[in-house]
Amino acid sequence: MSLPSIDKLSASLRLLPGVGSKSSERMAYEILKFTPDQLNNLITSLQSVRDNISICPHCGAYMENNICSYCSDSTRSKETLLVLASYKDALSFERINNMHYSYHILNGVISPSKGISASDLKLNMLYDRIGEGYKEVILALNPDIDGETTSLYLEKILSTKFPEIKISRLAYGLPMGGNLIYVDELTLTRALENRKVVKGE
Ligand SMILES: [Zn+2]
Repeated sequence: MSLPSIDKLSASLRLLPGVGSKSSERMAYEILKFTPDQLNNLITSLQSVRDNISICPHCGAYMENNICSYCSDSTRSKETLLVLASYKDALSFERINNMHYSYHILNGVISPSKGISASDLKLNMLYDRIGEGYKEVILALNPDIDGETTSLYLEKILSTKFPEIKISRLAYGLPMGGNLIYVDELTLTRALENRKVVKGE
């Protein structure tokens, strides 16, 4: 006997990374066992995510209730801008960032295999940001093929658009094909401190 509500919930859960049809079905039946209070909490938190979280039009970070914790922080560097693929990467850097760099989050990378090109990223937002007077841009994208493609593209275009700024990239030593959010703090600190300047002094 099929239960259309369970099928629908299971299909939604399957959108999560690493969740296949068996686990989504199992999760759906587990949710069925929630108490009314637990269910209400789940519903309210999903609604809250939908209604209160949006992307900051200035730096690309997620923000709650239209307040971006990065943009409203006056202690952030006005000189060094870290360009990241995702908000989760910002959380990784935030754990080691004693320098209080500023972040710009692309919310994606160029990926020929997924059909994502440079025009799909909101790069004008990045250009506007750099134009605010930053002296160095650190391209801190994942050490994988798409991150590499995006870094090379940005290196080229930023050197032309902003001939006066220094452009650097995270030092090698990061595991190739890896993801920044899984890199330990020491490795990430070293990759940042020993960053390689690709243009400028
Ligand atoms: Zn912001």
